Amino acid sequence: MKLTDIGTIKNLFEKHGFSFTKSLGQNFLINPSVCPKIAEMGGAGKEVGAIEIGTGIGVLTRELAERCKKVVAVEIDTSLKPILEETLADYDNVEVVFADVLETDLNALIAEKFPDMEVIVCANLPYYITSPVIMKLLEEKLPIKAVTVMVQLEAADRICAKVGSRECGAITAAVNYYAKPEKLFRVNRGSFMPAPNVDSAVISIKLHKEPPYKVDNEKLFFEVIKQSFSQRRKQLINPVSSYFKVSKAELSEGMEQAGLKPTTRAEELSMDDFVSLYRIIEKLKG
Ligand code: SAM
Repeated sequence: MKLTDIGTIKNLFEKHGFSFTKSLGQNFLINPSVCPKIAEMGGAGKEVGAIEIGTGIGVLTRELAERCKKVVAVEIDTSLKPILEETLADYDNVEVVFADVLETDLNALIAEKFPDMEVIVCANLPYYITSPVIMKLLEEKLPIKAVTVMVQLEAADRICAKVGSRECGAITAAVNYYAKPEKLFRVNRGSFMPAPNVDSAVISIKLHKEPPYKVDNEKLFFEVIKQSFSQRRKQLINPVSSYFKVSKAELSEGMEQAGLKPTTRAEELSMDDFVSLYRIIEKLKG
């Protein structure tokens, strides 16, 4: 069964009375070269367990099942169930959990489904929840090796930008705290059914083995990053001092002592600079 063939897809839809739900970001891959590449570059292997987010009709799920020891896929749309029962019938190493991934306890899922297995995450992500899903995968400190996901091209460029460049945003700094993001390859809009209005790209997020930055209060650290970027083209001292209710003069002095220009903008800071800024705020807030 070739799940990238439009005739096959239409037959499946007709047989099982399925229609797309746009609000769930349902753009299914019909370019046959993309899913094998995601699986290969994502680290699939005979001793590896894979988590997939959003199965659609199972096109990537099958590629992962071919290459991995076990696949557990989380899909929100139960109307895909009869289709998946047909398209995944040949694989006894696949389990589909029908749930909202944002509401799923992935640490518990990994402990239950993948004991003693190296785990990877692969997905063609539903675009409306790209950032929350990526941040969930990182913040929950899951025992996973790598995340390889398709996202909109603009999001890929933002996440994989250099911290301290014009293209960088709060999500760039947040991801870099946990991992090393890298853009792998571009996928044009014609590779999907229905075709979205924008192109996409597959990115790899390799988790740091040891955290390279020492941050005791991660919540505060991410707030500092977020507020620094809240007026991204302007001096960060204004939004940061007002959000954290610290005096501008004290913040300016702290920044100078840490070697940061008080006139600096968020897009000029390195990861180490964000850590310094966080330490200043932590100290000023007592
Ligand atoms: N993997 C398939 C492919 O490449 O053709 C489908 C990708 S499609 C972009 C995104 C999938 O995620 C859809 O099947 C959609 O129903 C599912 N989805 C959307 N929101 C979800 C959520 N909160 N939790 C789990 N799955 C979700």
